[in-house]
Amino acid sequence: MIQFKNVIKKYKQQTVIRDVSFSIADYECAVLIGPSGCGKTTILKMINRLLAPTSGSIYINGEDIKNKNVFQLRRNIGYVIQSIGLFPHLTIRENIEIVPSLGKKRKDKKQLLKRSKELMEMVGLHPDKFLDRYPVQLSGGQQQRVGVARAFAWDPEIILMDEPFSALDPINREQLQDELVQLQTKLKKTIVFVTHDMDEAIKVAHKICIINKGQILQYDTPEMILKNPVDDFVAKFVGKHRIWTTPELIRAEDIMLNTLVASQKDRSLLGCMETMRSRGVDSIFIVDAAGRLEGVVYAEDVKDVPDYQIPAGTVMHSIPYTARIQDSILAVLTQMKERKSPTVPVIDSNGKLAGIITKSSLVTTLSKRYFE
Ligand code: ADP
Ligand code: MG
Repeated sequence: MIQFKNVIKKYKQQTVIRDVSFSIADYECAVLIGPSGCGKTTILKMINRLLAPTSGSIYINGEDIKNKNVFQLRRNIGYVIQSIGLFPHLTIRENIEIVPSLGKKRKDKKQLLKRSKELMEMVGLHPDKFLDRYPVQLSGGQQQRVGVARAFAWDPEIILMDEPFSALDPINREQLQDELVQLQTKLKKTIVFVTHDMDEAIKVAHKICIINKGQILQYDTPEMILKNPVDDFVAKFVGKHRIWTTPELIRAEDIMLNTLVASQKDRSLLGCMETMRSRGVDSIFIVDAAGRLEGVVYAEDVKDVPDYQIPAGTVMHSIPYTARIQDSILAVLTQMKERKSPTVPVIDSNGKLAGIITKSSLVTTLSKRYFE
């Protein structure tokens, strides 16, 4: 875990980092984002001690980094910057395998070559083709891939990435973002990633840290930041309706109607009919005493029933598909389409009926979101 506690950084009289405290959990990717000059690079460079805080402390796994040997510290931290920084007179293989700080953590050569090859594959470069080339023989995108492979090569716990893909064309950029997500999942690194591109942040981040003028405005999951920006600056920065262009982050609970028509199964059919009529619906959910969903009764079922005093439970249908509040709207829509199910009840984690999604509720809630 990386922890910032009350970190302040000043250059002469100018305070560029103002009392920043936050922490990054192991194996998570935290993205620092904010306008140019807000302090992102400064925060990053304090983690590998290229810069020192004016006051406050930074801890890695509970240990204050200023008490650590700086070479040992950096050996445990990969660093990728925008301008790649490959050594021009070394081959790609030598560039990847070069010992970050000439420490003791030497690995056997065979093992190292094996790892270099694996990493090359993972960043989409054919090892046999590229390992013996020199950096000038590679395109910018290929060089940046080598830069990423190199950061992972010595198996550090932490990787710092400062706008690593900003100089790349959109296609290379998106490919590298995908590859980074795969590397992160497979190799389990703690990553601190700086960008000024919100789409990139949403794609790679477990958590996004929004910074302005040396302060953290909001530090949360992409979903929470998109749905609940803390203030106007964050809302503007994020883009007002971006959530609706990121449908994976829209949940059933964001879109469901809470106006439920429900009853219990020992209630008479007549009573249920009355409720349906007064609420203007043609079906009623049946729940138990705790509010857990049991089934549904349709108005049309009543046609064939001789006695309206029978309990609703006797004509109740089971429900083919129930969404959970955390399901993504994409999953819900897929199910609705596949099962030709025009109405979907939504339950919470206790199985309690929480809302309903219908085709018309989708239109209603979506248009409310856009035009509110
Ligand atoms: P970002 O990476 O978010 O664009 P930086 O962390 O590079 O921002 O810079 C934060 C602020 O610190 C800026 O206002 C910048 O001008 C200032 N700054 C950075 N380095 C120095 C320096 N060596 N001396 C004085 N001011 C600096
Ligand atoms: Mg910067």
